[in-house]
Amino acid sequence: MGYKLSSSRCLGVCLGLTFIMGCYLASLPIQNERAALPKPIKHIISSFSPAKKRLAIIVPFRDRFDELLEFVPHMYNFLNKQRIPFHIFVVQQKDNNRFNRASLINVGFLHTRNDYDYIAMHDVDLMPINDNLSYKYPASGPYHISSPQTHPKYHYDTFIGGILLINKEHYELVDGMSNNYWGWGLEDDEFYVRLKDAGLKVTRPTNITTGPDNTFKHIHDKTYRRRDMRKCYNQREVTRRRDRVTGLHNVLYKLWSTHNVTIDQLAITVLNVELLCNKTATPWCQCPEPMKPKPSLKQT
Ligand code: UDP
Ligand code: MN
Repeated sequence: MGYKLSSSRCLGVCLGLTFIMGCYLASLPIQNERAALPKPIKHIISSFSPAKKRLAIIVPFRDRFDELLEFVPHMYNFLNKQRIPFHIFVVQQKDNNRFNRASLINVGFLHTRNDYDYIAMHDVDLMPINDNLSYKYPASGPYHISSPQTHPKYHYDTFIGGILLINKEHYELVDGMSNNYWGWGLEDDEFYVRLKDAGLKVTRPTNITTGPDNTFKHIHDKTYRRRDMRKCYNQREVTRRRDRVTGLHNVLYKLWSTHNVTIDQLAITVLNVELLCNKTATPWCQCPEPMKPKPSLKQT
């Protein structure tokens, strides 16, 4: 009994001391620690329920750093308003071949397919500025955000470039994009035919009252960021036709490194990718003629 009494008294004293110490510790050191921490990374994805569909933004990329610095904070701000769980993957082409937007998107997809439910194939220089443009999960078919009615530059009916949302199953159904498109253009038009052949209907926003001048910001100076429109070998003939040979299943590449980096404390992932070219099938991955310099003003 005596033992019980003294042990319970001791327990009371201990609890009291623990409480006082706890209060003291809670008030001082944690506050100091907080002050020393850098600002938190605004990575909204972690705060969402696993039930929500997750979006991988896949940005085909080479030599567009200025644009990226503007793109990342803009997209965080834009998509956080819509409470979309997303992550940005910059798929950077690190080889000597001409730029291949479609193959980079295939690689981005392969890298994200296990953790994400849908992708946005997203130009780095095109930023949505109308909050009615929704990036929600495209359940019934591909959803073209940068419609021909609102894109700053391209206005033909079958245009699906710029920004396109597509869910994982549909991207797999069409075997992704063709790998034959080295240099600027036509890979998006070929993808349109793939979608059509698979019976997938592309839909577009219907709630937009803004137009080509005020729906997107397109940071693209055509002299400073020249489009590689060269055509060499039999590129013109081959790339005009629907490709039934290449796609997601046979994109040739090496993933050299993956970097988790932040821009203004916003997390993104950069994949450094070497695209491998089958020079027998697509010799135009390198054109013998270099890009001609733009004629400059005559010096007087
Ligand atoms: N791109 C790039 N580096 C290049 C060419 C293209 O990063 O050398 C990427 C970038 O994301 C760009 C997209 O491919 O936004 C589409 O290319 P571009 O802007 O030249 O095409 P546009 O739609 O303006 O004709
Ligand atoms: Mn552009």
